Amino acid sequence: TYFVFNFFKPTFMNGLIFDYQLTIPTILRRAETFFGHKEIVSRLPDRNLHRTNYGECAVRARKLALALQRLGIRPGDRVGTFCWNHSQHLEIYLGVPSFCAVLHTLNLRLAADDLIYIVNHGGDRAIIVDEVLLPLFEKFRSQIKKVEFIIVIPNGSGQIPAGMLDYEKLLAAEDATKFKYSEFDENLAAAMCYTSGTTGKPKGVLYSHRAITLHSMASGMTTVLGVGESDTVLPVVPMFHVNAWGLPFTCAMVGAKLVFPGPFLDPTSLLELYESEKVTFTAGVPTIWFGILQLLDKEPRKYNLQSLRTLLVGGSAAPKAMIQGFQERHNLRVVHAWGMTETAPLGSVANLTSELLDAPAAAQYDFRAKQGIPAPFVEIRARSDQGFIPWDGISMGELEVRGPWIASHYYNTNEMEERFTPDGWFCTGDIVSINSKGCIQIQDRSKDVIKSGGEWISSVALESMLMSHPSVLEAAVIAIAHPKWGERPLAAVVLKENKTATPQELIDFLRPHFDKTWMPDAVEFVKAIPRTGVGKFQKTVLREQFKDYKLG
Ligand code: AMP
Repeated sequence: TYFVFNFFKPTFMNGLIFDYQLTIPTILRRAETFFGHKEIVSRLPDRNLHRTNYGECAVRARKLALALQRLGIRPGDRVGTFCWNHSQHLEIYLGVPSFCAVLHTLNLRLAADDLIYIVNHGGDRAIIVDEVLLPLFEKFRSQIKKVEFIIVIPNGSGQIPAGMLDYEKLLAAEDATKFKYSEFDENLAAAMCYTSGTTGKPKGVLYSHRAITLHSMASGMTTVLGVGESDTVLPVVPMFHVNAWGLPFTCAMVGAKLVFPGPFLDPTSLLELYESEKVTFTAGVPTIWFGILQLLDKEPRKYNLQSLRTLLVGGSAAPKAMIQGFQERHNLRVVHAWGMTETAPLGSVANLTSELLDAPAAAQYDFRAKQGIPAPFVEIRARSDQGFIPWDGISMGELEVRGPWIASHYYNTNEMEERFTPDGWFCTGDIVSINSKGCIQIQDRSKDVIKSGGEWISSVALESMLMSHPSVLEAAVIAIAHPKWGERPLAAVVLKENKTATPQELIDFLRPHFDKTWMPDAVEFVKAIPRTGVGKFQKTVLREQFKDYKLG
């Protein structure tokens, strides 16, 4: 038996390749060595533009690492940031993980109670704050007692309050050549982000060095975001929300010029920067693009946007009318992507595939309004009560994902363990259909989907169509309790300035596109759709507003 057993036992071979760890310091070194001259531009709180480059950024990142070590920050310690998008924030992105401390970006749009919870739960030892954000920071500072060091980036009057440290003085005291890179395991934590906690407490996601490095590589691929050295990238998406979709790391890896908008995210400020810095690639949530499209429609020829090749949109569904509006009226390409805090965030991107290149425009827009094909290494499946759904483009189920940058657990909590399946997949809470080519279409959040007579109605699909009506600025569709059907849809609609429409007119507009069971039972006109801190429709608030609504 011994002989037989050994005869059939396979002799696996190890590859003869260096055991090279994929860590953020490798990105920092690369940016410094090869792209030291490439520019990083930031709009300062006084609106002036500050210019630096990856060379200076890397030197300052190493100085920051030394300064933090001098304060006693060790590998594994969390360093919070409470900052806008700017070059110092990039230094922190690269400097904190360079000695294996953990970057913890704090979302300054969250409520004080959430921030207190996040800082305390995350266990931050130091927090780096923009001076201009100190008034916001002071609102919760007294309740984060365990934070030992508050370091202020002097970008206001330069008056650093007593008991706080001056970021620039800390850096000035260090000699960057003294920094020694150490080798460490790529699976150690590099960065931490909390979910925005629309249901229950925010949950901490801990990205490893490996996850961020692979995510950056994938982002560079032409079938994903295609960000390269020749790009000039302006992340409108804040660096305090899922690492600005990883773009700071990706740009440093590939050597793309970076342009940071600072606190100015209004359409005019952004359009000025796109033009003056010849931005090629920009990224943000639909709210940002709605504002920009409106301004461009008003002043179509004011800005020269010839360099701009991609407006990446994600975070919530991009209505087809918006994608079409940019393309047809302004020759600007909106690319739709899906992701979440737990997916670092890149999950899928809707880049036109080869068979669609010659397809009629309508088919192209249909595809581009979907959430697209998963990035390499991101595996997908979706499940309903009946089991895994077929990839027929119609059946709906909850999307599950796995991959090298997908969270395997939440940090330091037993809550929501059910979102991680025993066989190693993350349940996203997004209800999707998947077509035969693997293209994902987000139909809803599981808590927003309207369950009517045993069938699911996609609020996202109805909203997207309503927003393509010429009089509609925004629309959100929510479920209203119904004695016979369980739930029925109600559409809350914001009309454009000086435009009119009746409920019946909007229903008639929807009718040719959906089954009659999907038609909203009511259309209500509202002044604005409530939004979360990161610009998503806050349907919990809307549902509360209409909780006693009686359907006629
Ligand atoms: P967050 O973790 O705050 O980034 O939120 C992630 C959630 O935003 C996802 O689970 C989706 O529900 C939603 N989301 C992100 N991108 C899209 C998209 N392109 N279309 C529709 N929903 C999206």
